[in-house]
Amino acid sequence: MARIVMKFGGTSVADLDRIANAAARVKDEVEAGHKVIVTVSAMAGVTNQLVGYVDQTSRMYDAREYDAIVSSGEQVTSGLMALRLQEMGVPARSWLGWQIPLRTNDVHGKARIEAIETEEISGRFAEGQVAVVAGFQGISPNNRITTLGRGGTDTTAVALAAAFRADRCDIYTDVDGVYTTDPRIVAKARKIDKISFEEMLEMASQGAKVLQTRSVELAMNHGVRLQVRSSFEMSDGTLVVDEDEIVEQQIVSGIAYSRDEAKITLVQVSDKPGVAAAIFGPLTQASINVDMIVQSVSPDGERTDMTFTVSKADLERARTALEDHRDEIGYREMLSDADVVKISVIGIGMRSHAGVAQTMFSTLAEKGINIQVISTSEIKISTLVAEEYTELALRALHTAYGLDAH
Ligand code: ADP
Ligand code: ASP
Ligand code: MG
Repeated sequence: MARIVMKFGGTSVADLDRIANAAARVKDEVEAGHKVIVTVSAMAGVTNQLVGYVDQTSRMYDAREYDAIVSSGEQVTSGLMALRLQEMGVPARSWLGWQIPLRTNDVHGKARIEAIETEEISGRFAEGQVAVVAGFQGISPNNRITTLGRGGTDTTAVALAAAFRADRCDIYTDVDGVYTTDPRIVAKARKIDKISFEEMLEMASQGAKVLQTRSVELAMNHGVRLQVRSSFEMSDGTLVVDEDEIVEQQIVSGIAYSRDEAKITLVQVSDKPGVAAAIFGPLTQASINVDMIVQSVSPDGERTDMTFTVSKADLERARTALEDHRDEIGYREMLSDADVVKISVIGIGMRSHAGVAQTMFSTLAEKGINIQVISTSEIKISTLVAEEYTELALRALHTAYGLDAH
């Protein structure tokens, strides 16, 4: 008898039929003798709609009210899932974040989980009851509802698995596993049977939204056995495992993309000590994260251009912060472009193989795609290109690295 956490994403609970389908998967596990905790997302599209309501009501909204509003989709699906299970003869009870309680810090909109009380739900296990936990939400030290960032139900699932020492954490979604790249864009993408935590972490943080980044981080730190699988087909999914469990290591394992980037260039800033601090200080103060950075060589040793990226949602605030500090920074002009995409090639094999970057650069060049910014880490190379080339670049790189399905 195992303990299993089962997470169903938005498309898997998009309507009553799909909730019934997901509930049947839960019933199978219960009948096999397992103890099950379920966690659910809101119905597909609902969270976006709720975020839209917030934006239409207030531009500089109060994040505590944002959380009160956008967390509500999961209240509906957790109740419906519990009710459907009961109808199927499976004892079940729904739980909102505050009822468990699932405690977080008070960073509204992207709160971090700090503790999960297990006593009450563990007691119900003994009676054979399935706990259905509303995903994506928790409660702050001030007793306010918090949310965990978009895609946060993945993190709810892994945190529950860690807290209840589950034997498995199964993430049920609309694809049957993690692919070499987004299968909705590249038809030749291949399903990966096993991927290392490190590569999955890099894929997620570079934009592959199949798992929320923080969920992978948590699973890695707590040794949670994480699996991504289809809620519609009965098939093995993708296991996320330690690096040493992977026998045949590819040089490049996957390619991710993120449309959530915007580029800012400050033209002709002084090329002198302290200028980078003058630029990035105001952005840090405004809690804006900067991702890629390039500084061009200065032809005269006096002036240079500084280009960097921020998330699209932060672009306007970043522009305002830089305008407010124009005198201290001293730039001639500020340019920005939101029509860009970041494409990242990821693989642990890069540590020991040269030439991976060159393949990326030459492949993009052959397709006439100009690279605007480059950044690298030990197991990743990212390039920023015009958004219109997203599909072309992904497909060409997928072929170039030998990832195409046969
Ligand atoms: P859920 O609502 O179940 O959480 P998401 O939409 O958040 O599902 O994540 C699943 C989606 O992630 C897929 O439909 C797919 O388009 C996208 N995706 C992006 N990159 C990948 C990848 N490398 N492998 C699998 N899916 C990916
Ligand atoms: N419903 C939330 C979202 O759309 C959380 C999730 O789906 O994981 O971001
Ligand atoms: Mg998701």
